[in-house]
Amino acid sequence: MSDAKTNDINTNKSLFGTDNNPSNIVPSKLSLDSKIKFRCHPKVSCFTACCGNINIILTPFDILRIRKELNLPADEFLLRFTTPVFLEKTDMPGVKLHLDENGRCPFVTEKGCTIYQHRPTTCRYYPVGMSFFHGAGEEGATAEEFYFLVQEEHCKGHNEDQVMTIRDWRKDQGIDESDAMNREWMELVMRRKSFGQQATLSESAQKIFFMASTDLDKFRNFVMSDSFKDTYELDQTDMAELEKDDVALMKFSFKYLASSLFGTQDLKIKEDKIKERSAKMNMTRDEAEQRAEKVYEELVKDKEALLAEKKAN
Ligand code: SF4
Ligand code: SF4
Repeated sequence: MSDAKTNDINTNKSLFGTDNNPSNIVPSKLSLDSKIKFRCHPKVSCFTACCGNINIILTPFDILRIRKELNLPADEFLLRFTTPVFLEKTDMPGVKLHLDENGRCPFVTEKGCTIYQHRPTTCRYYPVGMSFFHGAGEEGATAEEFYFLVQEEHCKGHNEDQVMTIRDWRKDQGIDESDAMNREWMELVMRRKSFGQQATLSESAQKIFFMASTDLDKFRNFVMSDSFKDTYELDQTDMAELEKDDVALMKFSFKYLASSLFGTQDLKIKEDKIKERSAKMNMTRDEAEQRAEKVYEELVKDKEALLAEKKAN
């Protein structure tokens, strides 16, 4: 298939399935036991058609897995292969794969995907989508999951004879492992999404979210810093593991984000730091009260002066 032809295709691979173009979604809710008729292989006439003109959001595990395969540090991988983006319908910044000048994925060749064993979660799911709703942004609320099929004109895999359950599709594509790794992070994003426009993340919270989600090298420096160790109750053995194990560090980053963005109890702040913070807050409150009192007194004085002036005239 020529690039000119593939450039006409607007592919809808999406990590957050509900944002797919609804006209391409087969309108039935599927479960793990539902069957789909689909097969993708190098001999299909549309081979690699879906690897262009797409938004492929990368999860923290996608980034880790691909850059390990390419043997790149996080900052170099981000610079060469990604573009910053806000995760769908949230104010959380993340990254998507940076397409080349022809709108094609940087990892596709005419022979197929050059990082196939390490490809992103989104690529593994397609053409299955998963909806993952988190109830009202509450901690502990159960997320509802169901699947659906995306059927796009250009994708000829739907004409193939292979039939399999969604459960087997997940196994076949290595989705179970990806999801197990990404789940806590996805839950954070979906929880944030459920807040809608009601609240906005501060700039520093956005920066922390971006760093923890995309650059584990930088996040490790942050976690190993004296100020981090001074602030949180940390187990020495866990810290030694975080220093050398990227997956452990990634999982720790999800807990850190849950506790710093949503106030969960995943990480404990040291007692003296809590006291220090509340003293600071009290001090700020006292200062604000004193300032308000002073302004009020000045207003009263001004008013009295005006009245006295009026009387004198
Ligand atoms: S990562 Fe691989 S499967 Fe995914 S779009 Fe790129 S070439 Fe295609
Ligand atoms: S069959 Fe579908 S998923 Fe496979 S290459 Fe063609 S467009 Fe992509």
